[in-house]
Amino acid sequence: MQYRKFGSLDWEVSALSFGAMRLPVLDDKSSKINEPLATAMLRRAIDAGVNYVDTAWGYHQEQSEPFLGRALKDGYREKVHLATKMPSWLIKEAADFDRYLETQMERLDVDHLDLYLLHTLNKRHWDKLKALDVLTWAEKKMSEGVFHHFGFSFHDQYSVFESIVNDYDNWAMAQIQYNYIDVDYQAGRKGLKLAADRGMAVVIMEPLRGGMIAKDPPPEPVAETYASSERDWSPVAWALNWLWDQPEVSTTLSGMSAMEHVEENLALATEAGLAEFTDADHALIDAVRKAYASLEPIPCTQCEYCLPCPSGVAIPRIFDVYNEAVSFDAWGHGRWVYNNMIKPEERADNCTECGECEAICPQNIKIIQWLATVHERLAEPAA
Ligand code: SF4
Ligand code: SF4
Repeated sequence: MQYRKFGSLDWEVSALSFGAMRLPVLDDKSSKINEPLATAMLRRAIDAGVNYVDTAWGYHQEQSEPFLGRALKDGYREKVHLATKMPSWLIKEAADFDRYLETQMERLDVDHLDLYLLHTLNKRHWDKLKALDVLTWAEKKMSEGVFHHFGFSFHDQYSVFESIVNDYDNWAMAQIQYNYIDVDYQAGRKGLKLAADRGMAVVIMEPLRGGMIAKDPPPEPVAETYASSERDWSPVAWALNWLWDQPEVSTTLSGMSAMEHVEENLALATEAGLAEFTDADHALIDAVRKAYASLEPIPCTQCEYCLPCPSGVAIPRIFDVYNEAVSFDAWGHGRWVYNNMIKPEERADNCTECGECEAICPQNIKIIQWLATVHERLAEPAA
């Protein structure tokens, strides 16, 4: 196992960390963790040197923390830095801070946390928590030793990330979505550099984009691109080595759901950051990114000239979701996003075929036709 600096703290953190959000389950039910297997995976990872474990209130329908409370017995708790997260969206008043934290510590069966994070910060959550004076509360908890360090996980635009970082001098870390596809998405590379410049650790989530860039073999044009390299790396190795080549990356969370994932990731982490990423390797990753983009069926550039649609259809967003589902062969994810993250009044079936958008689209996309296709393939059937 390779170890890395963790911002300004004196921690030596394993390049690979254990995320307890995609544990193996029974009967396809997120709340039914396959506990014997998940415990064996966690302990195998820790025995091999993993020393950072991440969870949150909501993972596995609130079963991840109680699971860890049991799985980290027999001396395993003492071997790791343990982080969990406050469910920002559930907080209604300042008294909730203590209420959630105390319950989480009971579930985890610990007397302190190494890190406590505000989960999934965006502008709305941050404005609310700031108004409830979460920073004063956190300072008090740290002075009492209840948790040792404070951070946040993030899902919003870079400008929001920058303002959160600027709002507090004592952030220990930030957790961001980052992988070779999402370089300019949310906090992105700019956020990684900013946080590192401020002495913060950066924990990477979705290093494999929810498994989308881990497929082996990958789609044909991507496979051909990989084959043009002299390196005999798997898609997972390319994705993780690309991250570990960046000194600002403190550790990479992997949501492992099978023992094979643990073994593959552990094998890679023994050499994390040691393989020099050459100019040719960077060029290859650029080509892989383009190869995935070439699979997108709708040539939408997200210019937004077609907005606002008089019927409220979120045209570019809908096309983005569909393109991602096709190019990464991620239909389950695409359906989930379409039905849960796009409001019913913004979905494709609100199109009245007025034609205004088609007249203005610089890419001459047959928008009406594509919207019908997308809705047919992504919408859940009416109950
Ligand atoms: S054709 Fe449909 S999507 Fe385009 S502007 Fe009219 S209602 Fe909106
Ligand atoms: S105008 Fe065309 S290219 Fe631009 S966002 Fe709308 S559909 Fe996409």
